[in-house]
Amino acid sequence: YLFPGDLSGNKRQRQTPKIVVSTTEIAHFENPDLIIFNEKLSAEIGLGKIENEEDKDFLNAKALPSTMKTYATAYAGHQFGNWAGQLGDGRAIFAGEIKNKEGEKTEIQWKGAGATPYSRHADGRAVLRSSVREYLMSEAMFHLGVSTTRALSLSFSGEQVVRDMLYDGNAAYEKGAVMTRVAASFLRFGHFELLSAQGEFETLKQLTDFAIENYFPQIEKDSEDKYAAFFQSVADKTAEMIVDWFRVGFVHGVMNTDNMSILGLTIDYGPFSFLDEYDLNFTPNTTDLPGRRYAFGNQAKIAQWNLWQLANALFPLIKEEAKLETILNNFNTTFWKKHDEMMAKKFGFDEVQEADGEFFTEAQQLMQDLKIDYTLFFKQLESYSESVDYKIHFKEVFYTRISEEQFLQLREFLQSYKERLTKNTISKEDSVRLMKKTNPKFILRNYLLFECSNELNEGKKDLLNKLVIALENPYEEIYPDFSVKRPIEYDGQTGCSTLSCSS
Ligand code: AMP
Ligand code: MG
Ligand code: MG
Repeated sequence: YLFPGDLSGNKRQRQTPKIVVSTTEIAHFENPDLIIFNEKLSAEIGLGKIENEEDKDFLNAKALPSTMKTYATAYAGHQFGNWAGQLGDGRAIFAGEIKNKEGEKTEIQWKGAGATPYSRHADGRAVLRSSVREYLMSEAMFHLGVSTTRALSLSFSGEQVVRDMLYDGNAAYEKGAVMTRVAASFLRFGHFELLSAQGEFETLKQLTDFAIENYFPQIEKDSEDKYAAFFQSVADKTAEMIVDWFRVGFVHGVMNTDNMSILGLTIDYGPFSFLDEYDLNFTPNTTDLPGRRYAFGNQAKIAQWNLWQLANALFPLIKEEAKLETILNNFNTTFWKKHDEMMAKKFGFDEVQEADGEFFTEAQQLMQDLKIDYTLFFKQLESYSESVDYKIHFKEVFYTRISEEQFLQLREFLQSYKERLTKNTISKEDSVRLMKKTNPKFILRNYLLFECSNELNEGKKDLLNKLVIALENPYEEIYPDFSVKRPIEYDGQTGCSTLSCSS
């Protein structure tokens, strides 16, 4: 199924039936400039340090060893609930796979290194602003303990890239960038959907067998049930990922099935955001308005919907509707059970007790009503005691003026929290310890990313370097000036708190 020949010069829209992989050339940027390199990650995956110009040329997508074959893959997907047909790696190109000393394999991709046969009408480029966002955010998520793809390097491509058209019809240019990112596998739900939709069941079987053998070693290769077990594992990993998104207040923004990893990795960082003020209806994606399909509070439901699409794709291999339906229906129960266990930890409870579901709902309502900063609220809860004035203690967590009535709502909540804590079987110290490792002190807020890419645009790296240190230690408060709510000048600003899909 390897496509014969190189299609990188061919940027016309094309469908590629029977083909799942195409060799494709990188852009060979003439004047790239490395911005940041993740040395620790590089060592972990077995790639080592940058030792010479060739190493840099590789990261910068400037030049490659002649023996290296680069490629892009075809996948399909459901975008915003609709079947989108064939898509593919439109601006991601694979460099291949590397093995470390422990024998663990990691795939390496460039993002923004040029057009591929799957780029359709687009240019295969990435702009600095979106590349900075992906580089930093994927690393931030990793250090928060959320399952994710990771970032290895970020460079200026040396090109100017056209993104938006100005009102006068002239093009707006932005600095181009290229990053390298890594994952055990970049396989998406969409890879399976493509083969299924094309009726290529033999290849679908081969792909699924490949995935099971390489990424799901716990599944018995020869068992009759292996495809159902595979689907069950994907569902479980997806549930765990979404629970973690809820824990740290992450909104992905574009949960199309082509952006869903079968390993339950957070993948394809686009118009994402952390929550500042708690809001179940919040979506950072301006392309997702007014529907808010991918809003914060919808993410579990959407994950389940996406799993339905994967189930449909795998059906020809499993052929037992009831089995798939059971797994899908159980997703809800599994997710909410894990969700409540996670919420309990956020509040410092050693276990989920009977009335806790109601308590969590009350907390959500409070945060939503009073526009409370999700991260700062838990930080303040951790250090709250009755000996302090609650109005002063929680003063900095609101995004709105709080009425006396609302303060009363907060006071009542704190009262029921105190009562609930007395039912813990662990000590106060252990309870606080639990909170400290569950609730981040630092989250990479969109306004920080916005400021960072503006600085880089002017050739300054100070904020970048500071953010890297902060995001590597999210459960500590290294820079108190980062542990504050979003400054008011950024309220509702496009490009900062909200972004479009194409960014
Ligand atoms: P996304 O919404 O980022 O997941 O992108 C949806 C599809 O569009 C994917 O198949 C991407 O590869 C493709 N795509 C997005 N931006 C570009 C671009 N600048 N050049 C080529 N393909 C792109
Ligand atoms: Mg994508
Ligand atoms: Mg994308």
